[in-house]
Amino acid sequence: MKTLEEVQDIHMESAKVYVDELFEKVQQRNPNEAEFHQAVKEVFESLIPVLAKNPEYIEQSVLDRMVEPERMIIFRVPWVDDQGKTQVNRGFRVQFNSAIGPYKGGLRFHPSVNGSIVKFLGFEQIFKNSLTGQPIGGGKGGSDFDPKGKSDVEIMRFCQSFMAELSKHIGPYTDVPAGDIGVGAREIGYLFGEYKKIRGTFEAGVLTGKAIGYGGSLGRKEATGYGTVYFVDEMLKAQKESFDGSTVVVSGSGNVSIYAMEKATQLGAKVVACSDSSGYIYDENGIDIDLVKQLKEVESKRIHEYVETHPEAVFVANHADIWSVACDIALPCATQNEIDKEAAEQLVANGVKAVGEGANMPSTLDAIDVFLKNNVLFAPAKAANAGGVAVSALEMAQNSARLSWTFEEVDVKLQNIMRDIYQNSMEASVEYGAPGNLVVGANIAGFTKVADAMVSQGVI
Ligand code: NAP
Repeated sequence: MKTLEEVQDIHMESAKVYVDELFEKVQQRNPNEAEFHQAVKEVFESLIPVLAKNPEYIEQSVLDRMVEPERMIIFRVPWVDDQGKTQVNRGFRVQFNSAIGPYKGGLRFHPSVNGSIVKFLGFEQIFKNSLTGQPIGGGKGGSDFDPKGKSDVEIMRFCQSFMAELSKHIGPYTDVPAGDIGVGAREIGYLFGEYKKIRGTFEAGVLTGKAIGYGGSLGRKEATGYGTVYFVDEMLKAQKESFDGSTVVVSGSGNVSIYAMEKATQLGAKVVACSDSSGYIYDENGIDIDLVKQLKEVESKRIHEYVETHPEAVFVANHADIWSVACDIALPCATQNEIDKEAAEQLVANGVKAVGEGANMPSTLDAIDVFLKNNVLFAPAKAANAGGVAVSALEMAQNSARLSWTFEEVDVKLQNIMRDIYQNSMEASVEYGAPGNLVVGANIAGFTKVADAMVSQGVI
């Protein structure tokens, strides 16, 4: 007769074998997709105790189904540049999982976009969207189109061609895209206009991140950056710490970065550095956020222009070096894998206390190990940057009800959602034997809701 402990050990061992074999299969079926493998590996490792405790998930192949997108659309995007030459880009939309709601996730326009990037983002989105507590499934899309250096009219022509195909696959009850890197309110406007023209109806809920005048939500622009800071603030408060008086470094200077800097500053922190892909600026007096907004949101300029107004600040022409700047709190808000093992070790050596991921998968698996082993408070992207998609779901709710909430109403809802995500992730980490490990906690809390919905809905 086996003891309870021996039975639990056997279940853990068989869950581990199952996960290892499935991960091998994922690698074989999706060759050359390093980013997708990385995102899957992180989730799989967290789920072993859940699968051991709930063998029906293995029996019903829930995870096998979850790593296979329900649908992936790849399409040609031809458009005519200002010289009259026809250009061709590739468009993607991955509709990963619709167990708890219509597919939801942003569109990224960046030359690095490929199938692996879109799949890693779409896979992460399943768990993130579940964590928000809103009824939204996981999806993501984009194109290898590079908006840098393009005229406004070229951007419009590209967006119209992209939507000519995408419109066949989306809708307020099927798939609701939003922005991401390279896609802001301007691009969403062109995409929405083309969708409306093709369909002949005004379906506000088909896209989120719209401008306020035609169905956008107050607070959506700020949501991801503010949400990341709210989440980190919860993490700090649990340790009787706060942003007040701390030194903060934020990578990037786009949508997420700007509003993370703004909220951290409002909470009493001094943000001393931010970046773009050309390098970073260091301002020991604290970054002038209004100037960054002017340079980036209004004038589309490079970050080095900052030092022309603030000659006391320094520009360093290497964006990766931003992690050598000493800080109490690091908020990576630019792109995937921007913090590797060496950068993480440097941050730890400089005394970093907390890291909050505003970008998607900005830390490599090795970097996360360094943070966790050194007891750095670590807020993983799925949980920490879920505020953007959460407010997108609030935008959908307002569109359905044909009403508009005030900024304050949205902001309070956002704060409550981020607090709930923190608490649910923390509770899951405790329940499954990894107290305080929010990577494990967020993955588990996001997974179980989707897994249970898939089981309820049968094999589809
Ligand atoms: P964004 O407004 O386009 O800004 C991106 C920023 O990151 C820019 O400063 C950009 O610099 C920099 N960057 C991009 N690729 C880079 C690279 N390969 N190396 C160095 N720097 C790079 O985009 P965003 O919306 O803020 O998104 C930033 C991150 O947050 C992404 O990981 C995105 O998936 C994630 N996220 C966004 C939202 C949202 O609501 N927007 C929600 C959840 C997660 P350059 O201008 O020089 O390229």
